[in-house]
Amino acid sequence: MFEYLINLPTKVLFGFGKLALLGEEAKKLGSKALLMYDPFVSNYPVLNTVQGLLLENGLEVVCFDDVSPNPRHSVIDAAVQLCNFENCDLVIAVGGGSAIDSAKAVAIVAVNGGNTWDYTERENEYVVRPTKGKIPIITIPTTAGTGTEVTPYAVINNTDIHFKATIISEICFPTVSIVDPSLMLTMPPHLTALTGIDAFAHAFESYINRNSTPFSSMVSLEAIRLYAQSIETCVNNPTDRHARENMALASTLGGLAIAHSSTTLPHAIGQPLSGLTDAPHGGSIAACIQQIIRWTLPQGKEKFAKVAETMKPSIQSLTTDEKANLLPSIIDELFGRILHGEKETMSGYGLKDDEIDRLADTVLSCYIMDCKGHPKMPDRKDIVNIIRGSM
Ligand code: NDP
Ligand code: MN
Repeated sequence: MFEYLINLPTKVLFGFGKLALLGEEAKKLGSKALLMYDPFVSNYPVLNTVQGLLLENGLEVVCFDDVSPNPRHSVIDAAVQLCNFENCDLVIAVGGGSAIDSAKAVAIVAVNGGNTWDYTERENEYVVRPTKGKIPIITIPTTAGTGTEVTPYAVINNTDIHFKATIISEICFPTVSIVDPSLMLTMPPHLTALTGIDAFAHAFESYINRNSTPFSSMVSLEAIRLYAQSIETCVNNPTDRHARENMALASTLGGLAIAHSSTTLPHAIGQPLSGLTDAPHGGSIAACIQQIIRWTLPQGKEKFAKVAETMKPSIQSLTTDEKANLLPSIIDELFGRILHGEKETMSGYGLKDDEIDRLADTVLSCYIMDCKGHPKMPDRKDIVNIIRGSM
């Protein structure tokens, strides 16, 4: 017998042009919005569009654009102060995962009080868990990668201690998310490739997770199929609407997948790497995922075979072993093409040899749940070897 949860608390409006519905959705939820957005948004007409839609529908707007990749706890605390000072009753995020996670945290901390960092989950440390709900939040992703528009997570970077940790809470699910692929057409090729690798990794890791469910597996495989079909076109022809639409869906499905059965070893190593070096999130995963797949095989080969055939349907008639063994090269070749031969490495992101031990310790202490979900449990030596192989 099988028992599992399907939890879909976020209303998602998906499709080209859906941004037009922002005003209507916003006025149902509040009257004064804290609008948090990526700096790049200021240079595009989308900022005027968003502000116009809110003002036309009678909302007041307070702007906050001090968002950076790997969003900082102290900046989010400043946004919380602004939110409360201005008595905002709605938070709206336009941008990549960093803007959205910042806004998710503000929506919680503004109501529950205290400092953002205290709400992040950390092993053996004092953690504040929200009890008073949140300000409603609307997210509008402009990258196709994190899927944070449908997850109960907000990943925060504490730059004082070079450590990334995550708020994990049911109330972290956004109230409404508008996934409009037209906002993703401006992503340059390298950003498209790295954020796309994140979307793929969510689908892949949740699929191979020991805690995957029939629901999460179905969602994961469809995300993998859409990714394999569309990512190259998005990189090489950024304004291809059909490919962008497919990647937007792959990203949202990847988010749904990790909301139901979480990430595994690539994220367990990638997240703390970004804390240490400020590596972009997708790049931190790209640096180690191939190494991890090679280390894991032949364990989990049935699922790896399924992923391989989903990415490359022409190998369907091969045996399970043959298909599984082809997965590393299928991924090597695809990543090689979308990254134009440039290899993401941990040393390239600034990790020093003498930091490898510290990174390995962090993986095993703070990301142990992701390690346990992986089809093969790593020990410290395995983690060190994977990191060395990713340098
Ligand atoms: P970021 O939000 O960090 O954005 C990276 C860059 O993308 C920004 O510098 C921004 O430029 C640029 N950008 C964003 N959208 C566009 C666009 N449409 N056109 C041109 N440039 C654009 O990247 P991600 O979306 O990958 O988010 C990563 C973060 O999300 C990490 O902190 C990661 O840990 C987290 N994450 C959260 C998850 C969750 O469930 N909560 C899941 C997975 C990852 P500029 O700076 O100029 O504005
Ligand atoms: Mn991720």
